[in-house]
Amino acid sequence: MTTVLWFRRDLRLHDHPALTAALETGPVAPLFVIDPPLVHGRWASPNRTAFLLATLHELDAALRERGARLHIRLGNPTREVPQFAREAGAQRVIVTRDYTPYSRRRDAAVARALEALGIAFHTRRGLLVHEPEEIRNATGKPIAVFTPFYRVWQTLPLRPLHPSPAHIPGAPGLDPGEIPTPASLGLPRPVDALPAAGETAARARLQRFLAGPVCTYAETRDRLDLPGTSRISQDLHLGLLSPVEVVTRARTLGCDTAKFVAEVAWRDFYHHILWHHPRVLHEPFQAAFRSLPWRNAPAHFTAWATGQTGYPLVDAAMRELAATGYLHNRARMVVASFLAKDLLLDWRLGETHFMRHLVDGDVANNDGGWQWAASVGTDAQPYFRIFNPVIQSKKFDPEGAYIRRWVPELRRVPESYLHEPWTMPPSAQEAAHCVIGHDYPPPIVDHTLARQQAITTYERARRASASEPPTQADR
Ligand code: FAD
Repeated sequence: MTTVLWFRRDLRLHDHPALTAALETGPVAPLFVIDPPLVHGRWASPNRTAFLLATLHELDAALRERGARLHIRLGNPTREVPQFAREAGAQRVIVTRDYTPYSRRRDAAVARALEALGIAFHTRRGLLVHEPEEIRNATGKPIAVFTPFYRVWQTLPLRPLHPSPAHIPGAPGLDPGEIPTPASLGLPRPVDALPAAGETAARARLQRFLAGPVCTYAETRDRLDLPGTSRISQDLHLGLLSPVEVVTRARTLGCDTAKFVAEVAWRDFYHHILWHHPRVLHEPFQAAFRSLPWRNAPAHFTAWATGQTGYPLVDAAMRELAATGYLHNRARMVVASFLAKDLLLDWRLGETHFMRHLVDGDVANNDGGWQWAASVGTDAQPYFRIFNPVIQSKKFDPEGAYIRRWVPELRRVPESYLHEPWTMPPSAQEAAHCVIGHDYPPPIVDHTLARQQAITTYERARRASASEPPTQADR
């Protein structure tokens, strides 16, 4: 019996439960559908699509080595999947389960269309470590705060890993279709700095990290000037790596990897939140902040997006994002806090900007991260905790290597002024070839004032729906 294995965010052959299931009954017809809304829609990104297309070539090569090949179709999956299943003479279609509102609607429609043809639609786990149904509190309800969520998550056993099959009997005679190029899809050129695509490159990244850096992750993960993190987010997003394998291997090393494993649990957490509360893609998780009076200040948004705020760390980060399609987690937190708190701009503007640029752009993680930074989400990040871009800069880029790399105007500014260049006396500005207001902008807002305004604005919104007095703290 031929099975269609419809690949989506599971572009690997290692530890692939849906592939194992497909192989149990005979030939496999692997399929990938280029779905136009994912290429051109609300969350589309030329960088991410280019990485995806390059990965499809790698997946095709890996399938060919094992006796099958990847088939490509372009169009609405509700039409393309049933049509391909009919061409293949398949009696069932197998997929790895996905959790976003879009994929749930899509899969329900495809399942109905297949059912009308007498073709079964099966889902398997594979994108997360644990499923949304598996994490419950004592009363059987989903958990919307990370710490108790993680307490349960940690206690659940990991399923055994599935080996990569040596042979995959294909379904010959089908039109393979063609993997499009970004240009043929009408997309602009991606950044030059895309990570190497495909499962083999992703496994090499994981291996490099597990061979050493993971053991110092807890100490170096926040440093912007050090390569202290795994850089596997795009691989987990598109399923080039199995998160179960990542956690299994991290846990069996001879050093303390708990902090790293907890970050992978955050990924499960935000996917579960999106599963249980799909509304978060349109509104804050916390009802109290639904009507925050965001400012309408397009010039401030442009300054933020182009790295011209006058705050070196914010500008370095936004320029890195534009140039590479990647951003360190600490930098994401700082620039997101700056947009939502210092500029009082709607966090959804930032969320969309990130999705357009990030190679690892992931609706669940990105929405979760933005809601966290804007203090409107699930977790305990109170609104009066506002990142100070100067303190963050001194703490996590102490010598300014990150700033100097991405903001060349500041390269000659002495370390003592680098985090606050507007405090340089005129003679120092001349000596550093960096005249504030000419070579580099003055700060677009005064952080101390902006912070106070943000607290007042959030406080009013919260007071309108609750009565607790807030306490203040900065960090
Ligand atoms: P590591 O530190 O090595 O972490 C390992 C893995 O754990 C990551 O690859 C990622 O899959 C997961 N992870 C780590 N931190 C988080 C987190 N806070 N939330 C959820 N998962 C996490 N991550 C994305 O994958 N896609 C996004 O679109 C995204 N947008 C974000 C937006 C904001 C405003 C913030 C604050 C965070 C966002 N993150 C996002 C989370 C995090 O910044 C990235 O996953 C991380 O920087 C990727 O680098 P890494 O692979 O080296 O991470």
